Amino acid sequence: MTEPAPVPAPPVPSAPVLPALVPIVRAAMRSRCPRCADGPLFAGMTAFAPHCRACGLDFRQFNVGDGPAAFLILVVGGIITALAVILQIKAEPPFWVHVLLWVPLTTIAVVACLRVSKAALLILEYRNQAREGRIAPEEATRQ
Ligand SMILES: [Zn+2]
Repeated sequence: MTEPAPVPAPPVPSAPVLPALVPIVRAAMRSRCPRCADGPLFAGMTAFAPHCRACGLDFRQFNVGDGPAAFLILVVGGIITALAVILQIKAEPPFWVHVLLWVPLTTIAVVACLRVSKAALLILEYRNQAREGRIAPEEATRQ
């Protein structure tokens, strides 16, 4: 008895990553509610509002954690450090020029990028219905 030839698996379409990110980045830069796109996400510089003023979506159910801040420390810190080193090598300015230039620039870049990255993570949590992990009850695991 011969076994039937295995059926080849259908090819997995590879979704282009960059075009998929464009609407999320655009929505994050607008910093609006992921459900109605009307109410503002933030109540302060980087603090989320408790809920959407337009549709009432509770933003407290989402937890973006410290991921955006840690990522920004690496990216913004690396860019600013590289620019400071290049400036020092090319122009050798006095130290106070570095302080006057890089401290405000770093602060502005971090706050601006933190708002966008926190908004992007909240939008992704909403769209993907991501929630904190829970341990399933024992009856549910016996299936
Ligand atoms: Zn809303």
